[in-house]
Amino acid sequence: CGIVGYVGLKDSKDILLQGLKKLEYRGYDSAGIAVQNSDGVHVFKEKGRIAILEKAVDESVHGTLGIGHTRWATHGEPNKENAHPHQSVSRRFTLVHNGVIENDDKLKSDYLKDVELRSETDTEAVVQLVEKFVNEGEEVEAAFRKTLSLLHGSYAFAMLDSEDPDTIYVAKNKSPLLVGVGDGFNVVASDTMAMIHVTNQFVELMDEEMIIVKREGYTIETLDGQEVNRAPYTAELDA
Ligand code: GLU
Repeated sequence: CGIVGYVGLKDSKDILLQGLKKLEYRGYDSAGIAVQNSDGVHVFKEKGRIAILEKAVDESVHGTLGIGHTRWATHGEPNKENAHPHQSVSRRFTLVHNGVIENDDKLKSDYLKDVELRSETDTEAVVQLVEKFVNEGEEVEAAFRKTLSLLHGSYAFAMLDSEDPDTIYVAKNKSPLLVGVGDGFNVVASDTMAMIHVTNQFVELMDEEMIIVKREGYTIETLDGQEVNRAPYTAELDA
């Protein structure tokens, strides 16, 4: 299973699909991408191989911001509804997740009783919590941080906000995730191989870090709000 993301100036679709193909070796049962443009966020997801997803993607949709996912189901059977990305009720927030949220049942019963969930996944609780806290008046970054502080388990997340055309919200705990740095673009990936076709500069992320990735830069913070400075390293391509 794996995650990719792109924020830049080019159309993200092909970069994401190519990245997902390079993550296929990790194993997966379904795959999806979300592409954001001025019309909103367009989600395409399918059970089965990336080749099936590729056929389902509307070629006429273009967007310079996007995230992608291959799923290895832990909560809910492998089907289209449970495939990622998952969206909040209003569809403002779109999220992909690798890992396992162990307290998802409790989060759903403590916070999301009024929300009509669309999947059986642990992941959906996370994107619904972000929207709930935003609806209660939190800024997106604070809502994301508050949500992360409630989670028990492992995660690599990439999230889009349809009202923000320049940001991928990223977080990591016990599941792999890297930020790849480019000139006028940045990417997110589970491993360097997935994005070595666009950059060889990567920033390692540590557990319980939250990363705000934009076209022109990135900010790493701990969950308690301390900013972290960490320079990229050069990834070597294994021949
Ligand atoms: N636990 C999540 C699910 O079952 C994510 C699985 C994964 O890592 O792909 O949907």
